[in-house]
Amino acid sequence: MARLMIIGCGGVASVAINKCCQNSEVFDEIMIASRTVSKCDALKAKLEPKTSTKITTAKVDADNVEELTALIKDYKPDAVLNLALPYQDLTIMDACLNAGVHYIDTANYEPEDTDDPEWRAIYDKRCKDLGFSAYFDYSWQWAYQEKFEKAGLTGLLGTGFDPGVTSVFVAYAKKHYFDEIHTIDILDCNGGDHGYPFATNFNPEINLREVSAPGSYLEDGKWVEIPAMSIKREYNFEGVGMKDMYLLHHEEIEALGKNFPEVKRIRFFMTFGQSYLTHMNCLENVGMLSTTPIDFEGHKIVPIQFLKALLPDPASLGPRTVGKTNIGCIFTGIKDGKEKTLYIYNVCDHQECYKEVESQAISYTTGVPAMIGAMMVVKGLWKKPGVFTTDEFDPDPYMEALNKWGLPWVVDENPVLVD
Ligand code: NDP
Repeated sequence: MARLMIIGCGGVASVAINKCCQNSEVFDEIMIASRTVSKCDALKAKLEPKTSTKITTAKVDADNVEELTALIKDYKPDAVLNLALPYQDLTIMDACLNAGVHYIDTANYEPEDTDDPEWRAIYDKRCKDLGFSAYFDYSWQWAYQEKFEKAGLTGLLGTGFDPGVTSVFVAYAKKHYFDEIHTIDILDCNGGDHGYPFATNFNPEINLREVSAPGSYLEDGKWVEIPAMSIKREYNFEGVGMKDMYLLHHEEIEALGKNFPEVKRIRFFMTFGQSYLTHMNCLENVGMLSTTPIDFEGHKIVPIQFLKALLPDPASLGPRTVGKTNIGCIFTGIKDGKEKTLYIYNVCDHQECYKEVESQAISYTTGVPAMIGAMMVVKGLWKKPGVFTTDEFDPDPYMEALNKWGLPWVVDENPVLVD
């Protein structure tokens, strides 16, 4: 029995909260704490009749370490699950340290203000030293290793689908199928159709920042950076069909490169339709993806935040999205002296997700692993002092939980490879 505090009440959080309420045996008490408490109250009202989990709600500004520390100390949870935005990762980690509570999230830190000169100086150095220019990276959270270790607390980083499940797939492949992994291709396919010319499946600001950035991959321990969307492949996805996919930078590559140094190449591909790419290019060309505030008729406006206000709320896409997602990892390597290939993936149906928890599959495939990660920590199955990504623990109980909680996976020992 555990008490969990969930921060945020958006698309991903609402799925994770639904799943915690289905899993009352583990989560007998939860607190939903977010910026807009009315959203937390509305979700509580919807779920309370269907669950024995005791739900409390609270308003909190997770950017404010003192306010959050006081709330955590008052509620005394076993762990805090951060499902706000990556901007809040460090303040929530600080509050967890202050209150002596385990920490779990689904995405690594990035700053809200990328023009902050102090952050820029560190970022510019990292771009030069490491060779990739994404705004997000693990260095900020890995810097908490010693603090968490000394406090005897676990920080579980990135337990969504990708990162999260994809890294568990790597640990599982290594444990059960390979002596040596040589290449990993992570393939994220969304074959869903929401009927809008342009919308993002999760927080538009985070999503557009990610996909408009240069792509990069790791080869022989070094980053190779390429212009955004300049490497394209086609792949025939089970449950979806043939799709164009593009090489992107993605955060799990960094952690996997560190933890599996023998892997010669790690790449990440995501599918995009032509309409999405055309809209994104146009918005970028006119400056709508900028995070730098501009003056507009006496007001300061951040273009990408203004765009967010115009785009459909990702949470509203659920009822209208049809089709499936297929996310997984293709491996090549050696087992017992012989060359081997393997593909582990999950197929998830948008409408099935909607029927179950009133969300589309992108929120679902993130919210379920968020609940599972929290369960691993509070049950003590994944508990060690320090900060860790999901590939650094025993994958078996997590893989079992994926099958049980709605994200069953498939192992294909004869996959088509990506060239
Ligand atoms: P949403 O924008 O839908 O939800 C974010 C929630 O956080 C909102 O409820 C928001 O409040 C709340 N929030 C924002 N700032 C604060 C703050 N300062 N204090 C308290 N609450 C705050 O985002 P998503 O649900 O789409 O994404 C949630 C997380 O999941 C993100 O970090 C995202 O990067 C990550 N993610 C990870 C994936 C993976 O596979 N690993 C895939 C998809 C997403 P309000 O309601 O007031 O806006």
